Amino acid sequence: MPTPSPLTTELKAMWHQCVLCQEPTILTVCELCESDAGFMHHSLLQHNLCAVNDTLTEDFLDHDAIVNAKFDELWILAVYQYPLTYLIPALKFHGQRHFATLLAQWFVLYRVRYMKDFPQIIIPVPLHWRRFIQRGYNQAELIAQTLSQHLHIPIDETDRTALVKRRRYTKPQSELNQEQRSQNMQHVFSVNSAAIAQYQHIVLVDDVMTTGATINDLCREIYAHAPHIKISVWCMALSTVD
Ligand SMILES: [Zn+2]
Repeated sequence: MPTPSPLTTELKAMWHQCVLCQEPTILTVCELCESDAGFMHHSLLQHNLCAVNDTLTEDFLDHDAIVNAKFDELWILAVYQYPLTYLIPALKFHGQRHFATLLAQWFVLYRVRYMKDFPQIIIPVPLHWRRFIQRGYNQAELIAQTLSQHLHIPIDETDRTALVKRRRYTKPQSELNQEQRSQNMQHVFSVNSAAIAQYQHIVLVDDVMTTGATINDLCREIYAHAPHIKISVWCMALSTVD
């Protein structure tokens, strides 16, 4: 393929704008906005909070998602603040599916490079089929698909050989207080015990974590069937807003 001339690149840039600052760029998000995002460079480990990033505030050290974690490790792309507070709702509620690719690519670029061991399978946190039909897609699955392509790790097919399924319809967590949230999320998932038992290390992928109630319930169900398993969680954002 011929190398584009500077003029072609310039013309191309005129027709594309950064989705955040509207400056001309051939990228979805320009390099300046990307450098503003404040991506984290360490995992948040349940059993070793000393490894927590220095830039995290006290809010995170006693964050529900970390204190009550039922998983083995948590990796997040960034704290849930701008630009993720723009990109994730646009992906989730306004049909901007291509933002899933962008988030997953950032995750590979900024987070995966610091990881030492990798899961054998990627499991997107499943949506209930009613919400899937309303929305037309599962945003966690879109993110997981790009991660799977880049990392060459297979993805759990939620509609066919699903390792985990959401068996109960739940109210959106954002409409509930903290106590209602944890009750809302009890025994929501079912696990294919024979299939999950063959894995030693899995990863659950989701867009944003607030209290961790959803992921914790899923982890409890998985551990009930496969106590030996290591569960990593890859979330694009961690929110401090309750
Ligand atoms: Zn920009």
